[in-house]
Amino acid sequence: MTIANQKGGVGKTTSAVNVAAALALHGLKVLVIDLDPQGNASTALGVEHRSGTPSIYEVLIGDVSLPDATAVSDQSDDLFCVPATLDLAGAEIELVSMASRESRLKEALTSQSLDELDIDYVFIDCPPSLGLLTVNALVAAREVFIPIQCEYYALEGLGQLLSNIELVQSHLNPSLDVSTILLTMYDGRTKLADQVADEVRRHFGEVVLNTIIPRSVKVSEAPGYGQTVLAYDPGSRGSMSYMDAAREVAERGVEEKESA
Ligand code: ATP
Ligand code: MG
Repeated sequence: MTIANQKGGVGKTTSAVNVAAALALHGLKVLVIDLDPQGNASTALGVEHRSGTPSIYEVLIGDVSLPDATAVSDQSDDLFCVPATLDLAGAEIELVSMASRESRLKEALTSQSLDELDIDYVFIDCPPSLGLLTVNALVAAREVFIPIQCEYYALEGLGQLLSNIELVQSHLNPSLDVSTILLTMYDGRTKLADQVADEVRRHFGEVVLNTIIPRSVKVSEAPGYGQTVLAYDPGSRGSMSYMDAAREVAERGVEEKESA
């Protein structure tokens, strides 16, 4: 699953690491690929990402295999991460002149490398842009997971994301599906949050998860300790809501398998 939304700060990274951690807590083996030079997902998973560490950058340019760049999170033996270092900041430009520049992540994410690591789920955390890194993520994935912040302007720019997804579907990855939308940072005290949530549900229907992630201080504090909120404060509202979201994601996966 590729977690994408070119709007910054909507909860992409928070959703990637916490849904991943929740699935890992249930014994599934989960890999988070940090595809953002900011390296926020690597930070939240407590994984080394200083410049020079084998990372997604070396994987994209073909210097290192995916398994060789994969680290285990200190929070769970079932939670893995391919970190992003600052080197990735140059990749957007370096990739332009490379062969099959849109499919380099797909080529690295072979079933052989996933089997080697025995992975059940992969989440790709995108940067807040629609550049080549995000295109690589959309080409490599089967599903797109879009976090939407319950704020004014939340839907702005979404049209652009969706038309980019359509372009990728028609040219590079026909089986790509926008399968999941998650409403994040919901503040029940404001009417606006409800209005945004209603509008998103009207627009996208069943794709929207029933679970809504509330705005919660614990969620925002956790990365400061190099942790997911599930590790930082397992009983908190934020933690519980990410557990619920992950359960929905897992149940949908099972339904899909059964209908296939
Ligand atoms: P970017 O576009 O920069 O990659 P992003 O979409 O990955 O951002 P996050 O980094 O997940 O967004 O979240 C943005 C900020 O909001 C972070 O400081 C995060 O800790 C905080 N945040 C995310 N979800 C919540 C929440 N439910 N409650 C409170 N704070 C949150
Ligand atoms: Mg992020």
